[in-house]
Amino acid sequence: MNIAKVVVDVPSSQTNRLFDYKVPAHLRDMIKPGMRVIVPFGPRKIMGYVLRLASDSQFDKLKYITDTMDVTPVLTGELLELGKWISEQTLSYYISAYQAMLPQVLKAKYKKELHRLTEEELPENLEKLFAGRDFLAYEEFIERKGNLGLLQKAIQEGLIEVNYLVKSRETKKTETMLSISKEPILIEQAIAELPKQAVRQKELLSQMLEMDGPVSQKELLSRLHTTRSSLKPLIDRGLITEFKQEIYRNPYQDENYPRTTALPLTDQQEAAIKPVHKSIEENEHEVFLLHGVTGSGKTEVYLQSIQSVIDKGQEAIVLVPEIALTPQMVQRFKGRFGSKVAVLHSALSAGEKFDEWRKIQRKEVQVVVGARSAIFAPFENLGIIIIDEEHETSYKQEDHPRYHARDVAIHRGKYHACPVILGSATPMLETYARAQKGVYRLLTLSKRMNNATMPVVHLADMREELHAGNRSMFSRQLKEAIEERLAKKEQIVLFLNRRGYSTFVMCRDCGHVMECPHCDIALTYHRNSERLKCHYCSYEERMPNKCPECESKTIRYFGTGTQKVEESLTKLIPQARIIRMDVDTTRKKGSHEKLLNQFANKEADILLGTQMIAKGLDFANVTLVGVLAADSLLHLPDFRAAEKTFQLLTQVSGRAGRHSLPGEVVIQTYTPEHYSVEMASQYDYENFYRKEMGMRRSFHYPPYYYLSLITVSHSNQVKVMEVTKKIVQFLNNKLSAQTTILGPTPSPLTRIKDRYRFQCMIKYKNEPDLRKTIRKMLTIFEEDTKQNDLLISVDMQPYQLM
Ligand code: ADP
Ligand code: ZN
Ligand code: ZN
Repeated sequence: MNIAKVVVDVPSSQTNRLFDYKVPAHLRDMIKPGMRVIVPFGPRKIMGYVLRLASDSQFDKLKYITDTMDVTPVLTGELLELGKWISEQTLSYYISAYQAMLPQVLKAKYKKELHRLTEEELPENLEKLFAGRDFLAYEEFIERKGNLGLLQKAIQEGLIEVNYLVKSRETKKTETMLSISKEPILIEQAIAELPKQAVRQKELLSQMLEMDGPVSQKELLSRLHTTRSSLKPLIDRGLITEFKQEIYRNPYQDENYPRTTALPLTDQQEAAIKPVHKSIEENEHEVFLLHGVTGSGKTEVYLQSIQSVIDKGQEAIVLVPEIALTPQMVQRFKGRFGSKVAVLHSALSAGEKFDEWRKIQRKEVQVVVGARSAIFAPFENLGIIIIDEEHETSYKQEDHPRYHARDVAIHRGKYHACPVILGSATPMLETYARAQKGVYRLLTLSKRMNNATMPVVHLADMREELHAGNRSMFSRQLKEAIEERLAKKEQIVLFLNRRGYSTFVMCRDCGHVMECPHCDIALTYHRNSERLKCHYCSYEERMPNKCPECESKTIRYFGTGTQKVEESLTKLIPQARIIRMDVDTTRKKGSHEKLLNQFANKEADILLGTQMIAKGLDFANVTLVGVLAADSLLHLPDFRAAEKTFQLLTQVSGRAGRHSLPGEVVIQTYTPEHYSVEMASQYDYENFYRKEMGMRRSFHYPPYYYLSLITVSHSNQVKVMEVTKKIVQFLNNKLSAQTTILGPTPSPLTRIKDRYRFQCMIKYKNEPDLRKTIRKMLTIFEEDTKQNDLLISVDMQPYQLM
C-alpha cells in the first residue's frame, strides 16, 4: 500500500479527481485515509486529503508525498464518502466539500506545533528534540529528522499533542497545575521540619493541604504573593508534583447549568417518542417529522430520545438554527447531559470551536448541539440526528458546497441506521408533503403543555389606521395593549422584520401590492431606473404614480428600521423602558446574552428586535407580542414569501403566554385578508398547507416541481447577459420539453461588488441527467471563466432567491 489517492486543494474541474502519489518509506505505516498531506503539484507544494491507499497505480512517473499535516486522520471513512456524495449532489468540487466539514483552524494554513503534555519521560529520540522545552515546532521536528512512528505512538498515548497555531490567544491553552504527592500527615510533618525562615514554603504547603486537590500554579503563587523560587525546592523534594493540564476555552462552564431530569411525558409525547425509541432500539433508519405547536414539548422528546441513545453507548447530533442557539437553548441540553455536550456556535472564536470539535473527535462528548455545520461532527457511532425548526432556511449553505443539512442528516442517518427527527411547529411545505406521502413518518403534538391555550391573535388593519388619521407606525390597538401591560408590570416583545424592506411597492390606502402578472411574485423596485422588475421572468414596468386599484397617490416602496421604531416608540410612550436588539446592538461578543439577561431580570418592559428574537426565547412574564409590519416579508420576491410569513408569524406568536399568564398577539398588516396572515392568526397549519400547495401546483413551484438556479456574474454587463443567454440556449436544446427555463433575467441583487449578475432558473419535474448536462455546460465555459474572470454558480436547491 505505498500509493496514496489524493484530492488536492485546487478547486477546478480538471483537478476534481484523485491524484496518485507515492508514500515515502518513512511515512509508510503512518499515512491513513482522512489525513491531510502536503504534495508537490506543478511547481508548488499544496495541501491534499488522502482518500485511500492502494498498492499500485496506472501511472508510472509518480511523485512522492512531501509531508503529512496530520498525525491522526481528521476525516473518518464515512465523512470521506459523504464528501464525495455532497460534491456530486451540489455540483461542487470534492475539495470544497471536505473543507466544509472541518473547523476553520484546520482549513487555513496554520503552523503546527508539537506540545508536550506531561513531565513523563519521552522516548529518547523525542526527548532529545524537545530538549527541555514544552513546545516544538513541527518544522523543526521534520528538519531534525524526528521519528514519526514514535511521535504517532506518543500522541496516541497522550504524551504529546499536535497543536495548530492560530493567533497565540486562540491556540490551545494549558496551565501548570500542582498537587500534593504525599499523604497529608507526611506533609504536615514536612512543614514542621522546615527551617523557621522558610516561611513561604510552609505557607505553600499548608495552603495546598487546605485546598485539597490540584491547584493552578499561577493562582497559588499570586494568592500567596510569592514566586516559583519558593516552590521549586518543594517540587525537588517530591512533596509537590507539577503537571500540565489543558484548559479548554470552555465558554459553556458546566457548573453554570443546573442539572435537570427527565419529565414524565404527556400522552401525546409518549405516543410520539415510542416509534423513535423503536427505531433506536432496532437500529432502523427512519425519518420522523415531529410536528408540534410551539410550547408542545418537542424539546423534551428530543432530550429523552437522546438519553436512550446515550444509554446505548451511541452519539447524537442536534441542529438548531444559528439564531435559536441562545443561552436558553444551550442550557436545556447542558442541563440534561452536562459535560457530555459540545456546542458549536458561530459566535465562538476559531480556537473555541476547535476545542469543541476536538472533544467530539476524541469521543469525550456524546452529544453535539450546533448550527448547520455541526452535521459534520466526526462521530462514528451515531444513534440519532435531530433537526429542530427544520423549516429554517439557514440549514441551507449559500456558498460552495451548497448543501442542505437535512439531506446530509438523512444520508448519515441511513449510513448509521439510525433515526432522524425533523421538528417544527411549521414544517416546510416540502417536508410536510413528504410526511403526507408516507416518505417521512408524521408525529404530532397538537397541544401545548398544561393545556395552555395559544395566545389570541388580533389583526390590526393599518389601512384603517391611516383612514382614521393615525399616521404613526403603531396602531391604536397595539398602543393600548402596550400601555395595559406597562400598568400591570408585564413584559412585551415587539418584532420588526428587517429583511426585504424597501423592495416592494404598496398602496397604503388599499394595501395593493404591485405583482408580476406571470409569476405571482411581488415586483422589485429599482430606484435608479424608477422601474419595477420581476426577478423570475424579467417582466418590467414603470413605477406607477398612483395605485392601479384605488387611484390613491400613497403608493410607495415600503420599509423602516428598528432604530426608527425605537425613536417613535419613545415619543409615543415615554415611560417605556426599551431594549433594542438588532445587528447593531449585538455586534459585540456576549452582548446578545447580556441584553436577554437584562430583559429576563425585568430591567426593561419592551424587547424590540428583528429575526433574532423570533425563536427559542421563553420568558414567563411576556404577555404581549406585537408584529409591526407583517407585510414586509409577505412581498419578498420569492415564491416562498407566503410560507415564510406564516412560519414567522406563528413563531413570534409562540413567544407570548408560554407560562401561567395568558398571552395576546397584535399583528399589524395592510393585508389582513391574505391567507398566510389570516391562517397564522388562527394557528391553522393544515389549511395553510392545503391552500399553499394549491398555489404551488398552479404556478409550478416546489414541491410539485424542482428548481435549479444558475447565476452568472462579471464586471461587464453585456458579457453577463450574453453568457446567460447562451446557457439558456444550451439548456433548452438538451432538456426535455416539459422543463421550463426562466430567464435570462437580472438577479434581484443586480450588482454586487461591481459585478453584474444575471440568472436563469430551471423548473423541472423529471430530468435524470440534469447534473450531467449542467456539468457539461460548465466545461464549455471553463476557459472563459478562467481567462476572463467570469463566474457561473449553480444552486441545485435554491432557497435564497436573491
Ligand atoms: P417546544 O420545543 O415544542 O416549543 P418546549 O419543549 O419548550 O416546547 O416545552 C414547553 C415547556 O413545557 C417547557 O418549559 C418544558 O420544560 C415544559 N415541558 C415539556 N414537556 C413536559 C412534560 N412532559 N411535563 C411537564 N412540563 C413539560
Ligand atoms: Zn390603492
Ligand atoms: Zn414574472
